[in-house]
Amino acid sequence: MLNIGCHLSLSGGYEAMGKDALSIGANTFQFFSRNPRGGAAREIDPKDADALKVLMDEYNFAPLLTHAPYTLNLCSHDPSIRKFAQDMMRDDLERMEQLPCHLYNFHPGSHTGQGIDVGIEQIIEGLNTVMFDGQKTIILLETMSGKGSEVGSKFEELRRIIDHVRIDDKIGVCLDTCHIYDAGYDVVEALDEIVENFDEVIGLDRLYAIHLNDDKNPFGSHKDRHETIGNGSIGLDGITRVINHPRLRHLPFYLETPNELDGYAKEIAILKTKYL
Ligand code: FE
Ligand code: FE
Ligand code: ZN
Repeated sequence: MLNIGCHLSLSGGYEAMGKDALSIGANTFQFFSRNPRGGAAREIDPKDADALKVLMDEYNFAPLLTHAPYTLNLCSHDPSIRKFAQDMMRDDLERMEQLPCHLYNFHPGSHTGQGIDVGIEQIIEGLNTVMFDGQKTIILLETMSGKGSEVGSKFEELRRIIDHVRIDDKIGVCLDTCHIYDAGYDVVEALDEIVENFDEVIGLDRLYAIHLNDDKNPFGSHKDRHETIGNGSIGLDGITRVINHPRLRHLPFYLETPNELDGYAKEIAILKTKYL
């Protein structure tokens, strides 16, 4: 069975997202841990979290995915921004202990001119500061497009981070199809080689989630603009090969395409017919 969902808004609460997911034929979803531009997080209503858990059990949901705010940057040149990112991440991780969701995706960061090596060091330092013994949540490094000074557009960079995270069984990767195509991994022409390369460099056992997006820009453009499925440079055939790849097909797929609920429902319906 295809495990698929999309990004949903937390504005109506947790159970409401579960119901929205079911209404569009999804069996999972992604949501922001708080306002995507940062700021204070809402307290979790335990009744709401429990209601979501009941729904998930009843309808056999695949694992849910939390996405950290975009502004979170563990490797800014500005120490106060790094500290702010650590505090926000720690707070997110603590709150996630109360949710039926234990995957937390974040953008590794932008080194803002410090260079990739310093960036990677600061990301490692940040993760080792915020992660705690006994945490349930697995933190996922998202593969990035390489725009600006982003860290994480090469599998090797993610490997270097993973190698130095103290709590080894709580660190993994979320692969974004638009981002890696932008970064120079040709998922259209060379998907098998890319999957193999991922396995060699990082290990497929670290891969927990896939962001399924088409791309508004051509291959290798480092722009990070998502397109609706079938209307971008990856195309429906390219996306179809991703969801059916023998080593990826069991994973949960999350759409982050520019859509409202009805658009997501249509994409999910199409992708289900393409899943062999
Ligand atoms: Fe993201
Ligand atoms: Fe993404
Ligand atoms: Zn993106």
